[in-house]
Amino acid sequence: LPPLANRTQRISSTGAILALERAQELEAQEGKDIIHLEIGELDFDTPAHIVEAGVASLRNGRSRYAPTAGTPECREAIADYVSESRKTAVPPQHVLCTPGVKGALYFTIMTLIEAGDEVIVPNPGFTAYNAIVNFAGGGPVSLPLRAANHFQPDIDELRSLITPRSKLLILNSPGNPTGAVFSQKTLESIAEIVLEHNLWVISDEIYAQLTFSGEIAPSIYTLPDMAGRTILMDGFSKAYAMTGWRLGFGVFPEPLIAPVLSMMVNDHSCLPPFIMDAGVAALRGDQSCVVTIREELKQRRDLVVPALNRLPGVVCPQPQGAFYALMDISALPHISSAQLAEQLLDAGVSLLPGGVFGKYGEQYVRLAYTVSQERLSEALEKIKSWWLVDGGSYNQLSTIHQPLSQRENDEKTQNDHRHGHGF
Ligand code: PLP
Repeated sequence: LPPLANRTQRISSTGAILALERAQELEAQEGKDIIHLEIGELDFDTPAHIVEAGVASLRNGRSRYAPTAGTPECREAIADYVSESRKTAVPPQHVLCTPGVKGALYFTIMTLIEAGDEVIVPNPGFTAYNAIVNFAGGGPVSLPLRAANHFQPDIDELRSLITPRSKLLILNSPGNPTGAVFSQKTLESIAEIVLEHNLWVISDEIYAQLTFSGEIAPSIYTLPDMAGRTILMDGFSKAYAMTGWRLGFGVFPEPLIAPVLSMMVNDHSCLPPFIMDAGVAALRGDQSCVVTIREELKQRRDLVVPALNRLPGVVCPQPQGAFYALMDISALPHISSAQLAEQLLDAGVSLLPGGVFGKYGEQYVRLAYTVSQERLSEALEKIKSWWLVDGGSYNQLSTIHQPLSQRENDEKTQNDHRHGHGF
């Protein structure tokens, strides 16, 4: 047969899906009970009023082609939601409904990036960023996010990454896998660099509503002169537990709208109108479903993060949003995050090695707290047993617990905090 296109060499599947498949295989073959903390999908069902709106819409015959940009009602509901939550007026004409935030990412990166262009990407960061940039022929440049800096970007380091080829900066706050929320001040410093170097910005705000303060996460889109060069992305997957509906959106600056629409019309024509009707119900309806999710996630975080920090040598910075805990395992220098994930899978807990989120993720594993508090407690017990018993063989673990703040101070005095500790 003739060969496949070269571009297929530049795209790969995601680590999260591979880990889930591996865990499911073990469950099927060996009947093992596995607690799933690997995939970024909440255990909540889509709220009933949203489901009902989708079903009613189908019954009303809303099953034909719709406008490629989205139905006017859906674009208006999104524009109202963004305008209100980000306190910045967004015209509905700038909103395009996409198949998830992933769709918005794909069409935006394909529109902006070509061979030779550099894209600054958070690392550890959501795996699709690197994958799509590579597929487009661009070069991802890692912006390291470190536990010692509470996973906030270092502004001087960001500045040092800029070259004449830099074209796009991708931000994600609240962040996957870090749980970090970038402060207004950090975003202001970033915006200064963006304007100075004439960059585009993708601001992936899919977790914007899922912060533990209850406030919408600050957005770079709202800063002076940024709306014209920022594509704000958000969606329904997380806050409304609608992962399978595949509904997301981007707020696009004028020059991107026509090319992105052309790509979308040739790709999927439009989103299903009954899905967009359900989206309208999500945004216009009672928001207590979002509050319920947020409050449950906060309880889970408060169960998981202190328990992880109580393990000798473990550092797990407090997440401020999303539903991930990124646990620093560098106290065990003789095991990689992939090997650790493998061992914990044998112990009945499936989580993700940080290496799947990029090279700066290698010293972590990510736990998604997407199961009940009961199951989380079980998982924490299993992790603890492994850590205290088997973990010792990968380092001499001290049994003395140091508070996180103490350890962070220690880290600052270490040249190489990965290998510098006795615990
Ligand atoms: N962006 C981030 C940072 C994510 O973590 C995820 C899902 O895990 C997505 C985008 C994908 O969202 P969607 O389901 O809207 O495509």
